[in-house]
Amino acid sequence: MSAQVIDGKAVAAEVRGRIAREVEELAEASGGRVPGLATVLVGEDPASQVYVGNKRKSTEEVGMRSIHHGLDAATSQDELLAVVAELNADDDVDGILVQLPLPEQVDQDAAIAAIDPAKDVDGLTAGSAGLLAQGRPGLVPCTPQGVMELLDHAGVDPDGADAVVIGRSILVGRPMASLLLNASATVTVCHSHTRDLGAVCRRADILVAAVGRPRMVQGDWVKPGAAVIDVGVNRTEDGLVGDVDFNAAVDVAGAISPVPGGVGPMTIAMLLQNTLRAARARHG
Ligand code: NAP
Repeated sequence: MSAQVIDGKAVAAEVRGRIAREVEELAEASGGRVPGLATVLVGEDPASQVYVGNKRKSTEEVGMRSIHHGLDAATSQDELLAVVAELNADDDVDGILVQLPLPEQVDQDAAIAAIDPAKDVDGLTAGSAGLLAQGRPGLVPCTPQGVMELLDHAGVDPDGADAVVIGRSILVGRPMASLLLNASATVTVCHSHTRDLGAVCRRADILVAAVGRPRMVQGDWVKPGAAVIDVGVNRTEDGLVGDVDFNAAVDVAGAISPVPGGVGPMTIAMLLQNTLRAARARHG
């Protein structure tokens, strides 16, 4: 039997539509004030330019304000921190996104730490990560938050489920594990030192792959009926592929997200959702 294929594009469009309506309501209630998202891009990395461009376009499409700072590749750490400080102090800015990776002369951790926690719409500051780890409300990293929305949309309840997350990055794996734990799943986090990864994955009712290795998760690693969410984005000769061997896994899983068209579109939708939340929290 073939799995339900989760249409991330459709779910993301639904979320963006709801956000657009809420932005309109917020503007009506506050005399025309709309949430503002600031993006900061250092250098001219082509992939980062595309990502930031898409984020800005989506921000404007839901009726929010996009404020952009494009900085020279040679920008020093002090110069970047000064821009972040300016955005922290700007009352019209509700969310700040510093696009990663940063050039090597800039300490990424210091740049993230400089963001006002109330405007941390990427959810990457230690404060946001701490709140999430403690199961308290806060701004949550966009990609794992998008995974939770996809599970919900597919009718998958994490409560009591065995969940396996492959990857332990600050951006995806760790917050993903916290979200699943906070939703009362029994969570196992795997990484490059995990022994017999296939056997661990086979126990999973919910399997989230966030590794960055094309088609690493094989069909026989998937428990029959499991929900499989593929976060991986890998450019190969066959085009964009995920971390899961989709063609093999689709025959075993109960639900599966494709690449492209699964988690990817959700990430920007969750960024907009975080910006709206940050604006509400700051202005009521
Ligand atoms: P990352 O920082 O490189 O982390 C990768 C993780 O995978 C690490 O924890 C690493 O373990 C683990 N790993 C590597 N090889 C492994 C192996 N053979 N077996 C088990 N675990 C292994 O990557 P990331 O930022 O979390 O991103 C992961 C993937 O998601 C990438 O493909 C990225 O492009 C994609 N992504 C997609 C979106 C989206 O919007 N769709 C957003 C963010 C990321 P160690 O910790 O032991 O090294």
